[in-house]
Amino acid sequence: MKDIEEIINKTAQDKIDFDLGVKLLLEYNDNFKALFKILQHYIFNSIPNKTDYNSEVYQTAINTIPLKQTYTPIVILKTFPTKIAFQKLASLPEDENKTTTTALLWIFKITDTERRNTECKNGCGHYWHELD
Ligand SMILES: [Zn+2]
Repeated sequence: MKDIEEIINKTAQDKIDFDLGVKLLLEYNDNFKALFKILQHYIFNSIPNKTDYNSEVYQTAINTIPLKQTYTPIVILKTFPTKIAFQKLASLPEDENKTTTTALLWIFKITDTERRNTECKNGCGHYWHELD
């Protein structure tokens, strides 16, 4: 597993403190577009509904992001359907990288935790759910 993926998964699984996870991702990574793509892929994968990528847990996730609700990425996530929101997030200026990373890592933490507690509960083949 690549470092970035390990940081994302360990943060989702409470093996790395959330704020530290965000910091590590931003420090480790000089390619924000690549980081964004990985986070988007992880989030979309963890949402069971592949029609509009919406679900109760996704809504819970975007409503509990630990940032001011007036920050641009939060407003976008709350205003637009999931796929359109992610397209808009991808084209935000660089100074939103930290808030966007915080928002996406949080969403994945919530949606992945729900998945681990439901469909993965009795064992799954996800190697990233087997981290020490
Ligand atoms: Zn799993």
